[in-house]
Amino acid sequence: MFEAIGTETHEEVLFGADRESGLRTIIAIHDTSLGPALGGTRFYPYRDEDAALRDVLRLAKGMTLKSAAAGLNLGGGKAVIIGDPATMWSEDLIRAYGREIDSLGGRYVTAEDVGTTVEDMVLISTETPWVSGLPLDEGGSGDPSPATARGVMAALRAVGERLWGSDDLAGRRIAVQGVGKVGMDLVRRLTDVGAETIVTDTNAAAVASAVETYGSKAVSLDDIYDIECDVFAPCALGAILNNETIPRLRCSAIAGSANNQLAVDRDVERIVDRGILYAPDFVVNAGGVINIAVETDGYSIERATTMVDRIYDNLTSVLETADAEGVDPQTAAMRFAKRRIDKAGGRRFRHRSGTA
Ligand code: NAD
Repeated sequence: MFEAIGTETHEEVLFGADRESGLRTIIAIHDTSLGPALGGTRFYPYRDEDAALRDVLRLAKGMTLKSAAAGLNLGGGKAVIIGDPATMWSEDLIRAYGREIDSLGGRYVTAEDVGTTVEDMVLISTETPWVSGLPLDEGGSGDPSPATARGVMAALRAVGERLWGSDDLAGRRIAVQGVGKVGMDLVRRLTDVGAETIVTDTNAAAVASAVETYGSKAVSLDDIYDIECDVFAPCALGAILNNETIPRLRCSAIAGSANNQLAVDRDVERIVDRGILYAPDFVVNAGGVINIAVETDGYSIERATTMVDRIYDNLTSVLETADAEGVDPQTAAMRFAKRRIDKAGGRRFRHRSGTA
């Protein structure tokens, strides 16, 4: 266990359990140099504790990079609850989990993720102030997906400016893998600006809705990799850019919301070798975390929108850094994030008082 924690140099990992409700949770704080560790809670039936630990450590580290690259004064953390929410969920379990978060005194702030809901965040808020993603009518920032989709649009405009000398997406062909909360809103925004969309999803009803509402062209789950398009936008799963799919791509750029799109880090080299521009996922999909960061100082949609639109500048800087330093965009984005963290001098975050 200490080897797993030490490999990624996490600051702190909390293992929490509650006998009555059956709660088993792991909260990983990766880095708080820039501020409190923010990251969602994943409620998932992991195969075993080892798989849960590995996932939470990896996801917490990803949050550090994402917030730092987005220019936020937040660190990275993540939490998992082990089990199937369909059978294990209870109010007592979620509240017991809220008390675990509270015990960290604000060093970790949670949010929604796979398997948890906005209602869970409201329940957690009865036990601790260190929770975000509350509903708009409770002073929170609501569903982060529209902000994430807006951020992907900003990234696509930056890609357009870079590749075609114009950020106007009218007439561009964008292949969207996954039309869920983010993907569907992205298709809506792309349609509004006159772009053409090609979609796929395991959910046939979602595909039918995109075709009917936005005139998208539907393709099979596998054909999305072979479609000739300007930009491929992965908005479903991670690890979809790998040695099997990259040779098939017929796009000029990749920019989408899915987390951890590269199966392994060196896949970015395969993409660069094919002359495809890769927009690092953690820069492109930061809209949701930016929206939540605004909530921590009193939510305002205007401020959130302005900050999310800065993803255009963030991605442009990353691509310029990649050119200047002769590295791929993923390496450039990681350097950009790490420089901000190093500048903070490894200062660990501590709250002065017990209030949010
Ligand atoms: P979602 O669950 O609403 O949507 C995902 C969609 O992908 C679903 O419609 C699902 O049916 C589809 N899908 C699943 N497997 C597929 C496959 N093999 N091929 C094609 N489609 C498939 O999730 P979401 O909130 O829209 O998030 C999409 C992605 O963006 C995820 O990777 C998520 O981690 C990431 N992300 C989301 C946010 C956010 O604010 N929601 C923020 C950052 C990153």
